[in-house]
Amino acid sequence: MLEVRAVPAFQDNLLWLLRCSVTGQTAAVDPGDAGPILEALGGQPLHQVLLTHHHPDHIGGVDELRERTGAQVLGFARDRHRLPRLDRALEEGEAISVGEEQATVLFLPAHTMGHIAYRFTTTEALFCGDTLFLMGCGRLFEGDPAMLWAAMERLRALPPATRIYCAHEYTLTNARFAVEVDPDNEALRERLARVQALRADGRNTVPGTVAEERLTNPFMRADQPELALGLGMPGASPVEVTAALRQRRNTFR
Ligand SMILES: [Zn+2]
Repeated sequence: MLEVRAVPAFQDNLLWLLRCSVTGQTAAVDPGDAGPILEALGGQPLHQVLLTHHHPDHIGGVDELRERTGAQVLGFARDRHRLPRLDRALEEGEAISVGEEQATVLFLPAHTMGHIAYRFTTTEALFCGDTLFLMGCGRLFEGDPAMLWAAMERLRALPPATRIYCAHEYTLTNARFAVEVDPDNEALRERLARVQALRADGRNTVPGTVAEERLTNPFMRADQPELALGLGMPGASPVEVTAALRQRRNTFR
């Protein structure tokens, strides 16, 4: 089994610490800060660092972790020029493992042009960085709406029980935005209420599941006619709807 532990950092980042329960092998996903990871490890070894993309809040702790633990650093081959030094450069479709837990690399350009995700297959878990957030998605810093829609189509096709471990706790704001653009969605209203209760308790909302996202994430529902209607653009393509949603979300508070 893959044990997954959330390690909060900065304002709203979620770093992830993984451990294979059989072998004890560990990995940190997107350690933007070394301190919280070292503290969570409590002296246990760290074997690998898995990177999704090059932004500082995802890579800031890598060099210190490598120095202190000797962990091997894995990231996308095409982005090696802007990532910390990689011990292993990955390609789309490549297999990696944390102990006995196998994962596949998914290349999902949108938030950045070199963004990847790690999909663990036995334990159905997705570490998707800033591509997908619960009920939302990352800003399009480098990619375009067509790439974002392609990423959403790919992710929504994953097994419904797949748990989504994204890199930020943005769920409440995303849910409030989603209700605004998808007001008649009953599943969404129920989820907003659950998220509000969790946050009021000071608890994290991540992970969610692919099944929940399919029903409530407007960026995964950009091909539903009611989304286009609600945006005042009936008959618009999913890519046009994605562009309009992302633009509107950029200024939503
Ligand atoms: Zn980012």
